[in-house]
Amino acid sequence: MTNAISRPQNITIDRAAGVMRITWLDGHISDFVLRWLRTNCPCATCREERREAVLAAADPLRLTSTPAPSTEVVDAEFVGHYAIRLTWSDGHATGIFPFASLRASCPCAECNPNGAPPLVID
Ligand SMILES: [Zn+2]
Ligand SMILES: [Zn+2]
Repeated sequence: MTNAISRPQNITIDRAAGVMRITWLDGHISDFVLRWLRTNCPCATCREERREAVLAAADPLRLTSTPAPSTEVVDAEFVGHYAIRLTWSDGHATGIFPFASLRASCPCAECNPNGAPPLVID
């Protein structure tokens, strides 16, 4: 399943710019905005929260007072060869981002001219 196209050669996190840059094995470069990554966190908790947010938005009487999640990364580690786990400054660390999904959601104009699609985790 892992081929050169979804295999990183180098990953750097620019905290000041709020960007995680992945240089892929084929030389392609993807700049992922950390805020976007947090918004697309693939863990079960965040997926459930997003589902509830959609329901809440549909109900004008429901209060949405959840604080905005942290968009600062304090740590990143490889999970095998296929994914990266990000630890956010609020302690959230259950999100494991598969490289294949990241590559599919590359925000560059060449890969996704209409903007990055939401991260797809099967
Ligand atoms: Zn999460
Ligand atoms: Zn791209």
